[in-house]
Amino acid sequence: MKTWTIQRTLVLVMAGLLGGAMQAKEGMWIPTLLDVIEGDMQALGLKLTAEDIYSINQSSLKDAVVHFNGGCTAEMVSSEGLLLTNHHCGYGQIQQHSSVENDLLANGFWAMTRAEELPNPNLTCTFIDRIEDVTRRLARACVGLSGEERDKKMKEEMAAIVLEATEGKGLEGKVVAFDFGNSHFLITSRVFRDVRLVGAPPSAVGKFGGDTDNWVWPRHTGDFSVFRIYADANNAPADFAQDNVPYVPKHHFPVNVDGVKDGDFTMVFGFPGRTEQYLTSDAVEHVIDRLNPMRISMRDQGLAVINAARASSDALRIAYAAKQSGVANAWKKWKGQNRGLTELHALDKKRAMELRLNQATGTTVIKDIAALNAQYFPFLEARALFIEWLYYGPEIFNYAHSFSGLVQGGLSEEERTSLIERLRADEPGFRRDYDAGVDAQMMGRLVTEYLKWIRPEMEPEGLREEVAKAGGGEAWADKMFGKSVFDNADAMDKLLANGSAKAWSKLEKDPAYRWVEQMRGHYFSTVAPEYGRLRSEIEQASGLYTKALRRAFPKEVFPVDANSTLRLTYGKVEGSAPYDGMQYNPLSTANGILQKYIPEDPDFDMPLRLVELLEQKSYGDYANEDGELVVCFTGSNHTTGGNSGSPALDASGNLVGINFDRSWESTMSDILFDDTRCRNIMVDMRYVLWVMDVYAGAGHLVREMTLVRQD
Ligand code: ASP
Repeated sequence: MKTWTIQRTLVLVMAGLLGGAMQAKEGMWIPTLLDVIEGDMQALGLKLTAEDIYSINQSSLKDAVVHFNGGCTAEMVSSEGLLLTNHHCGYGQIQQHSSVENDLLANGFWAMTRAEELPNPNLTCTFIDRIEDVTRRLARACVGLSGEERDKKMKEEMAAIVLEATEGKGLEGKVVAFDFGNSHFLITSRVFRDVRLVGAPPSAVGKFGGDTDNWVWPRHTGDFSVFRIYADANNAPADFAQDNVPYVPKHHFPVNVDGVKDGDFTMVFGFPGRTEQYLTSDAVEHVIDRLNPMRISMRDQGLAVINAARASSDALRIAYAAKQSGVANAWKKWKGQNRGLTELHALDKKRAMELRLNQATGTTVIKDIAALNAQYFPFLEARALFIEWLYYGPEIFNYAHSFSGLVQGGLSEEERTSLIERLRADEPGFRRDYDAGVDAQMMGRLVTEYLKWIRPEMEPEGLREEVAKAGGGEAWADKMFGKSVFDNADAMDKLLANGSAKAWSKLEKDPAYRWVEQMRGHYFSTVAPEYGRLRSEIEQASGLYTKALRRAFPKEVFPVDANSTLRLTYGKVEGSAPYDGMQYNPLSTANGILQKYIPEDPDFDMPLRLVELLEQKSYGDYANEDGELVVCFTGSNHTTGGNSGSPALDASGNLVGINFDRSWESTMSDILFDDTRCRNIMVDMRYVLWVMDVYAGAGHLVREMTLVRQD
């Protein structure tokens, strides 16, 4: 297809102009292409224009939306750098500032003055400067080229585009592929590096319901935390410095304290991470039958160890807080995803669509993808298991690997010194959140599980034999931890203080070091290259697939997958009826918090003061017209991971909630969206303000915001 046709198709697809009624609910819309859906949004209730939402000429809503640490979303709520995101997005930072004596996770934290705000090294906040379609320019540059030559030219042209857009402007830039490379956009941004923790409710509010309620509606979680962005005297990004000043954003969201009611227009503006709506039926079957079960089983093992450890002491509860959440979140989602895909007959639906496409066009693309998938699945599995074991499992492996430069030698004196400095600086942080006993148990269980799932042809050499010889996973892990020095803080301190080249090189035989290097060596030499090659062929074929779908069925809408770029999604405050005989209301209230309250329960306990305030219905200015305090609400906005922390906005662009989750019956929406049951979950701003003001006594933060009443 020629470039202009690709462009036109993308716009028309975005617009749904190729016929048929616009589906308000499905789709994560690229902000520069909102003109074409403006009418539909307005018909649903929006009182703004596309230009009000995204503009490069004047301040617009996009200027208040923040990519929080590259994984979550956040929003500006004051002209002095104040920012809201989810509690679960700031969880790692809250944990870092916590200790048994000063437990911010359990007690919450509120800076009563700016001087009390807590710095967070390495935390970044990114604002989008500009998004520009560069598909044509890239296509023009590559006319007549193919294969490696074309790839090379593409890379060069992308680098040139980025350089032109950013040089000398204090901006970062990248060219990002959309829709499997059918289009490309330049995205320039400004990255702030001095971001301080201002407030967090206790976990009993911010994580109320724990893993039991995660991915579930009705919900009563106050999933928010508060940060402030600091800038230099010119309002520009700067490293942390005492004399930095609060950043003045181009826009901040006013908060609508009258809030929402059933049927109101809402939109969610943020950075959805990844959807896979164009997986073919064989790939969906593989997700259901192999990929999800193996990932869930690996995490079952890790969670059994972490959860028991966290219940055994406060120190371990704090040390393993963020790790537990990271492991448990996707673990539960994958379970719901498998259930939803099965209940919705995802395979039948996908196969029917593929058959329709084949019959309409005679394309071979589905067959081509299936042939590639057959080769790809073993590598995909090996990669998934590698990630589960090395990145979500025991920590000693990655820790040992971080010393490889010293163990292998060959570094210049300067490199050596700087590596040792870095390792010494990281050491206390690592030890603080690490327990060798917990790690050894994880190792034992995960290696056993890994060997259950890994295909024989993908196994790292010698692992199965060595584990068998040791008498099983646990014995193997015990032996490793018995011999390794990496779990010995004193020994590592001594080595870091004055380790000779010879002492470092001896570590080559350390069992933790030996195995992590062997696993990595095996993965990077035999799994990753084939994985990468097949992945990129599948991407290319998938680009042909989406093009074929759009050409064959011009009246249907085929939204562009999420790719961690800024998107707008819109819908209504809306409940759902996912099963016969049941109905979910779209709003939850503080009464539900009290109904769920179970003293001493790790998921449902609460501070007594909170219980008392709620029992007295001390709702301050934040009750709705029925005298109730709305806590959370659901909407028909299409969201995914990465939308965590996104602003939920009303028809006038005022903040009404913070997106944080989806309902249990929506967990398959990354692969198959169903507009009758897919609902995102947002914490209501009235509850956020109530927690800050009435519960925490941090009313100064509420007063810093711009509060508005219903327009
Ligand atoms: N709770 C989710 C997350 O943490 C948000 C979502 O996926 O809807 O990623």
